[in-house]
Amino acid sequence: MGKTVSIQKGVLYLVATPIGNLDDLSLRAKAVLESVDRIAVEDTRHSRPLLQRYGVRTPLVALHEHNERQVLEELVDRLSEGEAVALISDAGTPLISDPGFPLVRRCREAGIPVSPVPGPCAAIAALSASGLPTDRFLFEGFPARTGEARRKQFEALRDETGTLVFYEASHRVAGSLSDMAAVFGVDRGAVVARELTKLHETILSGTLGALVSTLEGDPDQRRGEFVIVVGGAPAGEGTIDPEAERVLRVLVAELPLKQAAALAARITGEKKNRLYGLALSWKAG
Ligand code: SAM
Repeated sequence: MGKTVSIQKGVLYLVATPIGNLDDLSLRAKAVLESVDRIAVEDTRHSRPLLQRYGVRTPLVALHEHNERQVLEELVDRLSEGEAVALISDAGTPLISDPGFPLVRRCREAGIPVSPVPGPCAAIAALSASGLPTDRFLFEGFPARTGEARRKQFEALRDETGTLVFYEASHRVAGSLSDMAAVFGVDRGAVVARELTKLHETILSGTLGALVSTLEGDPDQRRGEFVIVVGGAPAGEGTIDPEAERVLRVLVAELPLKQAAALAARITGEKKNRLYGLALSWKAG
């Protein structure tokens, strides 16, 4: 308990920063940022207000997707010469859908110590408040951007029993949720966590079907930053029986989706909602 902050020379510190509420910077994070020789930031313009607010005057170096390989070598040299360096991203935990992986990998290979200074992470914040199971979860980052690739990605996750966690941009959140409803089924439980730790923080929970309707009906619910958390497939449910799928295909060609799913369920004993979800995914695809 109460270990005071002492910066080690030649260590790369991965420092988590706030995901919206600037008060969420930890005391240790502040102390490390003040004490290191250099801070590698994703975007200097973005990080300056946070650092200024905490009176941190440490020199900055920009490290982003486009210069990562080159700056990485420079940082590795500095670390090898004994400088202490902190890495921060625009928000949250570095490397979690953010730059830094090649640098950390390179440091590990070179025997340079890497030390985490943990703190905010939108995925973990959303998961912990979601009310969905937290014992097993799969973080998927941002879904693919185009409809077809996105649906394929979701289809590969349809039978995953762990909770699923996604990041999504505001202009794609409604589309992603509709594809999730189509592939995972309209009755799958989910949570849309918006603007966490900020003024307009909203955590909506319900079935995917209900969440799609809510977001479609209210443009305010499509603004800001989002984490989507989706309950896993019920254990033991497995894939849909191929015979039920065959019957459904025949009926879908002749009847409206709901009716085809209901009839296929009566014929095969498979659950109506699962068949409806499958039929929706075919239609969407
Ligand atoms: N490294 C960050 C972390 O630890 O959470 C994530 C960076 S990623 C580039 C940015 C995405 O995280 C956003 O598009 C959004 O999906 C999610 N996110 C970040 N801050 C958020 C917040 N305050 N509320 C909800 N989602 C957030």
